[in-house]
Amino acid sequence: MTSSYKGAVSRLFLISFIFAMGLTRMAVSQEHSRTIEFPDIPGYKTLKCDLHMHTVFSDGSVWPNIRVQEAIKDGLDAICITDHLEYQPKNTDIPHTDRNRSYQLASEAAIGQDLIVINGAEITRSMPPGHSNAIFLKDANKLNVDDPMEAFKEAKRQGAFVFWNHPHWTSQQKNGVATLTEMHLELLSEGLINGVEIYNDHTFSDEALEIAHKHNLALLGNSDIHGLIDWTFEVPRGGHRPVTLVFAEEKNETSLKEAFLHQRSVVWFDNTLVGSEEFLAPLVKQSLKVSRLGKSMVQTLMIENVSDADYILENDSDYTLHNQASVFIVKSHETTKIQVKTIESLDSFDLKFSVLNAFTAPGKHPEIQIHIQ
Ligand SMILES: [Zn+2]
Ligand SMILES: [Zn+2]
Repeated sequence: MTSSYKGAVSRLFLISFIFAMGLTRMAVSQEHSRTIEFPDIPGYKTLKCDLHMHTVFSDGSVWPNIRVQEAIKDGLDAICITDHLEYQPKNTDIPHTDRNRSYQLASEAAIGQDLIVINGAEITRSMPPGHSNAIFLKDANKLNVDDPMEAFKEAKRQGAFVFWNHPHWTSQQKNGVATLTEMHLELLSEGLINGVEIYNDHTFSDEALEIAHKHNLALLGNSDIHGLIDWTFEVPRGGHRPVTLVFAEEKNETSLKEAFLHQRSVVWFDNTLVGSEEFLAPLVKQSLKVSRLGKSMVQTLMIENVSDADYILENDSDYTLHNQASVFIVKSHETTKIQVKTIESLDSFDLKFSVLNAFTAPGKHPEIQIHIQ
């Protein structure tokens, strides 16, 4: 009786210990899964931005302070609340005439926090031109005019940065293919559109990416959140909102706008990164800290991934690998061992990888080079 009782107690202890260990590990991985983490790149800070979101001041379900709290939980650097100028379904319950009000309330909620809150608005029209966000506005009320062209011109007068929202949205573009109309070409030729969402909510557009390349537009990926970030993007299950990673000289509004006007951005959604080679390659490279163990003909390297992306790498080097196939995954916030058959014991050598979960254009991946010494 006694010994089996002791056995039961020690089994119980063992089970509680394993359970506690599991909880500790869960706590560690949850910390990484919530805060969005990407390293800076040479010369620039990597600012994590969500520049499209709604509150009860248009058709969203939350007060502006909730958008600020969500952004702080996600470790964002900048947000822009972009309530619809022309679509105000709650104005019998929440009557207001000032289209800057949600921005003002969000700004107040962010006092003392390390979060940039930008004034913006969604110009909400039928197609063409569809929906566009004007951000870095001085007064959103002045864009609330009948003629859509006038709204864009006013945005420009205020020094705003304007991007075309969800051009692939099936409610306005039934086949889901982002397509420029005459009105868009006119807006582009007058410099009234400066960027385009290639990702919105849970939808992606290769065609929008091609339009961006052709017309030299900045790339954006935003949540367009109306409800709660946690529910819409399944954050408790390890999900994250889409964000625009912006490469700015400093963390402030002026630098952020300057970066957008020079198309210095990469879009991050699910486990995918999209942007130009110029910024994607350094972003991936800075994410991977490579160290060499000793020196031999089969060289062992440890790759620490300090970013949130699980990088899917394809080996394009002159050497084959010893412990991995030619395609392998370097998991986020983990260290992965690779063994390289350099044939001779070399003082230094170069490795090349295509990053298969990153795109510079439809079907095209960036390539990174790593010099080993
Ligand atoms: Zn919209
Ligand atoms: Zn929207």
